[in-house]
Amino acid sequence: MKDIIVLGSTGSIGTQTLEIIEKRGGFRVKALAAYGSVALMEEQVRKFKPDICCMYTESAAKDLKERLRDVPVRIVTGMEGLCEAAVCGGPGSLVVTAIVGMIGIEPTLAAMDTGCDIALANKETMVCAGHLITTHKWNESHFIRPIDSEHSAIWQCLECGKKEEVAKILLTASGGPFRTKTYDELKSVTAADALCHPNWAMGKKITIDSATMVNKALEVMEARWLFDVAVDDIEVVIQPDSIIHSAVEFIDGSIMAQLAPPDMRVPIQHALYYPNRLETPLEHRMSLAKLGSIRLEAPDMNVLKGLPLGMEAAKGGSGMCTVFNAANEIAVAAFLEGKIGFLGIYDIIEKCMREIPAEREPSLARIFELKASTFELAQKLVGSI
Ligand code: MG
Repeated sequence: MKDIIVLGSTGSIGTQTLEIIEKRGGFRVKALAAYGSVALMEEQVRKFKPDICCMYTESAAKDLKERLRDVPVRIVTGMEGLCEAAVCGGPGSLVVTAIVGMIGIEPTLAAMDTGCDIALANKETMVCAGHLITTHKWNESHFIRPIDSEHSAIWQCLECGKKEEVAKILLTASGGPFRTKTYDELKSVTAADALCHPNWAMGKKITIDSATMVNKALEVMEARWLFDVAVDDIEVVIQPDSIIHSAVEFIDGSIMAQLAPPDMRVPIQHALYYPNRLETPLEHRMSLAKLGSIRLEAPDMNVLKGLPLGMEAAKGGSGMCTVFNAANEIAVAAFLEGKIGFLGIYDIIEKCMREIPAEREPSLARIFELKASTFELAQKLVGSI
């Protein structure tokens, strides 16, 4: 029985992680952490009986304490509490980092310091701090188990050859709900339009990121660090049905791809139980014969500008990736609140990238400074658009 800690347990990845371990067993839930969803957290604590529970916001922690007066659980809060939860299983425990945003970076580093195993779903850890994560001495005896479907696919495909035999990574993208829209059509799309993803049911932020292609750009940044490849050796391919989750081309011209139904429970289960493959967590396996065909096309780099802007940031290093990511965070929140239009997201990202100087390999403190200065500029831009 292995101890598991789920950071972001009330989100989409977190709830599915708990659903899988409930079904498959093998883990004891040692700690849970979430941002502010008190009601769901109360339910999870009563069911999984963790030793520690972190509610990131103080008011939520207070509320949870009230609700759980009859339950022996230590309730902590803030970044200190989040890091305490992350490391409480000690070396060899598995930390699932499914928290959204840059607050995921520090608990991941804390878990590495402690010698925990890590199943990573937090994008910002690699996007902003990939250079710090990959040079940590933890890597001598551990490796990150990616949960994101594309990186899980690449991880599995890479097992088919040696590192020096890899020619390139083929990162697939659904293209999102606006794949076929023109620039003029995008001027008037709303948050409700963007939230209708054709294949995946996900959180709001990532669904918008998928519509703008910013999500794919963040995945390029992650893949670059996770698999130690040059940005130019990562090619994005549009696969509108989300059946091929990504592929690896080897030097002999063979392309190995991982295919599965578009359901996050598949990559989550793989990350949790690796190196074993368990029965599918889904109701059915996929039939290729019934599928009939799989569509593939090149991405449009002119209309949905998230990808070209992100590729530029990726080549600029972790500082520029931090600016790209932070500007996007503010822009997406503003779009969801109806304060800016869809294309305004690109304007804000691009202006922040042009105006904020960022080094290739910033320290952790500097990453947060870059985030703060980007937030400030992006907020100003939201007000002026
Ligand atoms: Mg993905």
